[in-house]
Amino acid sequence: MGIEVRNITKTFGTFAALRDVSLGVATGELVALLGPSGSGKTTLLRIIAGLEEPDPGSGAILFHDEDVARRRVSSRRVGFVFQHYALFRQMTVFENVAFGLRVRPKRLRPSRNLVKYKVLRLLKLVQLESMANRYPHQLSGGQRQRVALARALAIEPKVLLLDEPFGALDARVRQELRQWLRRLHDEIHLTSVFVTHDQDEALELADRVLVMNEGRIEQIGTPDEVFHRPATEFVVKFMGQVNFFHGRLEGDKVHFSTMAWDWPEHAGASTQPARVFVRPHELDVDVERNGQPSLQAVVTRIHSAGPNVRLELRAASGEPLCAELTQERFRSLNLSVGNTVYVTPRDVTVFADESPK
Ligand code: ADP
Ligand code: MG
Repeated sequence: MGIEVRNITKTFGTFAALRDVSLGVATGELVALLGPSGSGKTTLLRIIAGLEEPDPGSGAILFHDEDVARRRVSSRRVGFVFQHYALFRQMTVFENVAFGLRVRPKRLRPSRNLVKYKVLRLLKLVQLESMANRYPHQLSGGQRQRVALARALAIEPKVLLLDEPFGALDARVRQELRQWLRRLHDEIHLTSVFVTHDQDEALELADRVLVMNEGRIEQIGTPDEVFHRPATEFVVKFMGQVNFFHGRLEGDKVHFSTMAWDWPEHAGASTQPARVFVRPHELDVDVERNGQPSLQAVVTRIHSAGPNVRLELRAASGEPLCAELTQERFRSLNLSVGNTVYVTPRDVTVFADESPK
């Protein structure tokens, strides 16, 4: 086991920022901490790093099976990259990366030549060899974060902790850097924990995703698991746009209770109220009733610039809906705003209501 977090609780005054959080990160794994702002991601990362202490008597942090609670931060061999990692402005790229090596105690400090060799190798790794003599203000945001990463890697960490490192960059650069980071992680055999509030980033980058909400873990799973088999309603909603319906459960059948559904209403005493979630791409759209139970709706907006076409719809009952079709399907339906369509869920995620009426 690379990192193990056992039953950590952290309170600031009376506010519980982390509530009984446990997590294992295997050696070589890249785990994303995903959650909205204020959910406790940074606090958890800082506790793993040793920059913050958990509540006295609560849990433990183990690195490679060793309790590190009493270990000094500097001896944990942890590299950090933060969203606004202030590089030293008066130092060149080279000097920034060399910093961690030059401040080592004398007996551990590499020779001048070795520092040079290591720094140049790192700059090559982050594809900034040609920028060694530049100052931070002469770099783009993406380049600065790569310098920050090279600097974090200079101490040859076993564990790399990243707190929204690409948060301040624009979408295209973020996308590039995230693929690049994933390759780097694999190449140099790191164990990494990556904080983000962006579900696409987490799903694309991580081996496993830990979804946090109000200091608690909602789910830990592979990107596939958290996306396709969400454990809670919070996870469903956090993973992207989703349509919501009231329904009823009868055995393993789901009935939609919305009267507007052209669906035999079986809501008898034996059924249980349920909450039904359908992703836009899980809704089939047709211009005619096709014999399947369906909901009538009107097309209110069409977004076709993309790999898929997103339709905004309004159900007869007034509820807004969103459906996503392939470009091919969209063309074959020949749709315009104002058209009437019939939507049928192909797949649903259902949670029984905890407090049945
Ligand atoms: P995230 O990184 O997910 O946005 P944080 O871990 O930074 O969340 O914060 C979680 C909660 O703990 C927030 O409500 C924040 O205000 C609170 N918090 C974090 N650090 C402190 C602190 N040093 N003192 C008081 N409250 C804090
Ligand atoms: Mg944070």
